Amino acid sequence: MGPGPSDVHPRVLRAMATPLVGYLDPSFVEIMTDVQELLRYVFRTDNEYTLAVSGTGSAAMEAAFANLVEPGETVLVPSNGYFGGRMGEMAARVGGEVVTADAPWGEPLDPATIEAAFDEHQPTVVGVVHGETSTGVRQPEIDEIARIVHEYDAYLVVDTVASLGGVEFRTDEWGADLVYSGSQKCLSAPPGASPLTLSDRAMEKVRNRETQPRSWYLDLEGLWTYWGDDPQYHHTGMTSTVYALREALRLVAEEGIQARWERHRRLAGALKAGVEAMGLELLPADEHWLPSLNAVRIPAAADGDALTSRLLEDDGIEIAAGLGDLAGEVVRVGCMGHSARPANVLPTVGALGRALDAQGVDVDVGAGVAATNRELGE
Ligand SMILES: *Cc1c(COP(=O)(O)O)cnc(C)c1O
Repeated sequence: MGPGPSDVHPRVLRAMATPLVGYLDPSFVEIMTDVQELLRYVFRTDNEYTLAVSGTGSAAMEAAFANLVEPGETVLVPSNGYFGGRMGEMAARVGGEVVTADAPWGEPLDPATIEAAFDEHQPTVVGVVHGETSTGVRQPEIDEIARIVHEYDAYLVVDTVASLGGVEFRTDEWGADLVYSGSQKCLSAPPGASPLTLSDRAMEKVRNRETQPRSWYLDLEGLWTYWGDDPQYHHTGMTSTVYALREALRLVAEEGIQARWERHRRLAGALKAGVEAMGLELLPADEHWLPSLNAVRIPAAADGDALTSRLLEDDGIEIAAGLGDLAGEVVRVGCMGHSARPANVLPTVGALGRALDAQGVDVDVGAGVAATNRELGE
């Protein structure tokens, strides 16, 4: 119940034990094609350029900025969370001039702030984080942000590492130009094959670069020689990880993407109701709540690190301490993919309550567990 890796379904574990074949074996190429089709379904896109980048979510993030940004271009990234900061660091390392769209940690970006940043800085690439794992904030109005970005003929990159497959996201309808994710959060696959999709227009920008991307390994044109029609060797495909990702994506398709969004809302909603009934609160306002990652404020008297250790040692439940600016102020309870089940949510609420109580914090554990139970029963 942390920020990933989430629990993996037994079918995904079994898929990982499939015997290996060559990375250009026709049977493996078929599996890659399945992965691409299933990723289009999950991303809600018709983008041809849809693939899985070797590496974790950060590799996909790096692929986004290494390809879309040329040295000297201005890149706008958010200041309201840890992963927005990582975007900025990556954009700077590929030679971008980084400017920030400011909002406090715990709040989303206001599209008006992005509009103002265009007036001031004229960025060509804008990054936003859909589900900010450090704050538990869901960025709303991606469609409105995309509209502004396109008015200025710029490109919108969206990080959905902690939300894809768990929280509503619509690439085409909302107008995102490049969207990337990770496999080990709401998709409940092992880490190592990270979904990425980009529009024809974004791929045009990559193809028309004046300078080659500084990363050879993450060069999207190079990756497409392997993931496109008539696959050629670029680097060895991640055989077992791709088997696993396909199985995890099939589980998403079997459940149905809308049903899956709904399940995350329901299960995380029960968790949220429980911590609130206990007397605690989440960091973000209700309308920006990210069901896949619940940032629970802890009183100043509580010790976040001791809480997470106690849950792990006494209850066998993994949650995470606060990250970056929020260290010591929140604990982060994930509710992702195959982990988002009643059998996990209910014990987590009880264990968190008991651990806080043991630290002398005044919480009503019984009321919390009862509230979670009631929500789960509805
Ligand atoms: C986890 C996460 C990342 C980084 O992914 P890794 O798999 O750790 O490389 C990036 N962005 C967000 C929002 C995340 O939650």
